[in-house]
Amino acid sequence: MFYLAKTPWLIKKLYPECIWDIKVTEKILFLTFDDGPHPEATPFVLEQLRKHNARATFFCIGKNVKENFETYKAVIAEGHKPANHTYNHLNGWKTKDKEYLNDVDEASNIIDSNLFRPPYGKATKFQLKALQGEKFQLKTIMWDVLSGDFDVKVTPENCYLNVINNAKAGSIIVFHDSLKALPCLSFALPRILEYFSEKNFQFKILS
Ligand SMILES: [Zn+2]
Repeated sequence: MFYLAKTPWLIKKLYPECIWDIKVTEKILFLTFDDGPHPEATPFVLEQLRKHNARATFFCIGKNVKENFETYKAVIAEGHKPANHTYNHLNGWKTKDKEYLNDVDEASNIIDSNLFRPPYGKATKFQLKALQGEKFQLKTIMWDVLSGDFDVKVTPENCYLNVINNAKAGSIIVFHDSLKALPCLSFALPRILEYFSEKNFQFKILS
């Protein structure tokens, strides 16, 4: 699996219809958590965020919201922002447009949000344009920094360093509240929150 911890400027230029980072004048970071809610990983994340009065955006999978609805409600109750990550975690490059859009629509019945992130970062220009159109009105949120927490070959230390070395004010950072990411997350997330809190950063939702 090939990916870069830091999204190159050229990729950002090629997809100007997507949001990759946020222009800010203050020390603000935008933490995002994909693929939840999960009954174990999500409460762990919520607890860490609470300790630092941090808010984050959760790109939820529709079917996980249905299965873990109490956890989903806790995410919202604690002031975090829910966002659409399709119902079945589909890869847009491998899915017919109609099926893909129906799947996002199904997720939007259960996730009330104006934000969308395509699973694997893979959706066609046509699909993204349709989702940004009048019917869906979804903004596409990509990222500036990948923690790599989903990659079993990344050590927890490297996951931590991926974020520490690449994040700056306005960065959108990707984590996963999933079982697979939990070993990396349980090491890296508390330390990342600590590190940036000490540098007087704030953690806010995407709005
Ligand atoms: Zn995902």
